[in-house]
Amino acid sequence: MDENNNDKKFQCVCCGFFSLEEMGVAEICLVCFWEEDGETDLDVISNPNRMTLRKGRENFSKFGACERQFIKDVVKNPETKFRKENF
Ligand SMILES: [Zn+2]
Repeated sequence: MDENNNDKKFQCVCCGFFSLEEMGVAEICLVCFWEEDGETDLDVISNPNRMTLRKGRENFSKFGACERQFIKDVVKNPETKFRKENF
């Protein structure tokens, strides 16, 4: 992987950045640490993430990660590395 060009093919359903290489493989988003599980319903609890997507998005907008414990692990300044599209 080219470190200077992290733009990936798929958009994370939680943070909106194009941070995923593949879909359906439980890839963890480097930007918000949401685990992609195919769930797109905002109010269904996502098992791997132990919260709803709505909550994950709320957390990301509050402190930049889907869960507080991941704040230290997420990519800093993701907008300089990944493309983002609003939902
Ligand atoms: Zn994400």
